[in-house]
Amino acid sequence: MAFNYLTDDVEQQKQRARYRARQCVIEQSGRYVKINDKNYVNFSSNDYLGLNHHPEINQALAIGADKFGTCASGSSLITGYSYAHQALEHDICDWLNKPKCLLFASGFSANTALMQALGHKSSHLYLDKLSHASLIDGALSSEAKVKRFLHNDIEQLQRLISKNQQAEPHDDELNQVIVSEGVFSMDGDQADVANLAKIAKQHQALLYLDDAHSIGVIGKKGQGSSSLADIDVVMATLGKSIATSGAFVACDKNLADYLINFSRHYIYSTAISPALAWATKKSIEIIQAEHWRREKINELSKLLTEKLSQKIQLIENSSSIHAIVIGDETSTLDVCQQLRNKGIWLTAIRPPTVPFNSSRLRVTITASHEVNDINYLASCVNEVIQ
Ligand SMILES: *Cc1c(COP(=O)(O)O)cnc(C)c1O
Repeated sequence: MAFNYLTDDVEQQKQRARYRARQCVIEQSGRYVKINDKNYVNFSSNDYLGLNHHPEINQALAIGADKFGTCASGSSLITGYSYAHQALEHDICDWLNKPKCLLFASGFSANTALMQALGHKSSHLYLDKLSHASLIDGALSSEAKVKRFLHNDIEQLQRLISKNQQAEPHDDELNQVIVSEGVFSMDGDQADVANLAKIAKQHQALLYLDDAHSIGVIGKKGQGSSSLADIDVVMATLGKSIATSGAFVACDKNLADYLINFSRHYIYSTAISPALAWATKKSIEIIQAEHWRREKINELSKLLTEKLSQKIQLIENSSSIHAIVIGDETSTLDVCQQLRNKGIWLTAIRPPTVPFNSSRLRVTITASHEVNDINYLASCVNEVIQ
């Protein structure tokens, strides 16, 4: 029979305890999520700053819909680029101190587009080993030579760059891009952004950062990695701390012009909803003004570290994301289920998303959580993980 692999491959996932199924969320607001008639404290949300359902953002969405419509009715190069998009781009440029900004339908699409645009046949892309799937897919589908360095291993990165430069010492067209995430999605650890920027400068390479998990959360005004160093190209999704949907790329004028002229993801895709662009503008205004949201995440994260018992392997960091590494898939799912029975919702992350035998619980702490939520989480985790 044709297409047997469809059922065979899924069956194999089940046998390896890697089968994935969706859960329909009935309601989600603040710290709670309602799934199948049961309420849980939600520790798996990417709404890090707790801005989803914010009344001022909702109001901006309604005003945006009235003024500009729910739909862009075209791609940006036809008639899809509205005043709402332009105003949002300007605000992002001011926020991150970049000359240009372009909006994309999703972070996945933006990363793929940018890896293809920077991945010219004369280019070398150096990607951190733990880079997001969209960066890897984009890089591998480009014409560039792609190298991956061990996670956060700056010495290996430098060796790779030096080796290339020795091989092609007189090549004026040696285009090099260092690609990393600001905060990594699975463990919440940070790249050494200042050092990456320094190395990029030394070797006349571009630094490209995926700031999906840093934007809003890092920096006095939530500028993400841009608060730590001068970064050539910043990509961030609007679907995490910014609490809307879509993505942006902030860069210089030459790259923006190139994308408008050559990027298929930009040219052949409908511009994001202008109503949502208007709501996003409001969200970014709140993110800059309300530093208490970032401080609260930090305080609650510290509290979790204090309250977890010594035997629990927690990867410490200063982001919203905290990983508790358990090991094999079956025990991780089992712990996850026991926590669900106690009214706690968090996600088990299994291979191939993380390396073999490092299945983990991914805990996200948001500005909507309260001290009691963290105390409850810690006491349940201490009890369930023996
Ligand atoms: C979520 C995420 C993306 C994708 O962004 P979407 O807007 O959800 O498509 C890209 N990179 C990283 C690191 C992410 O975590």
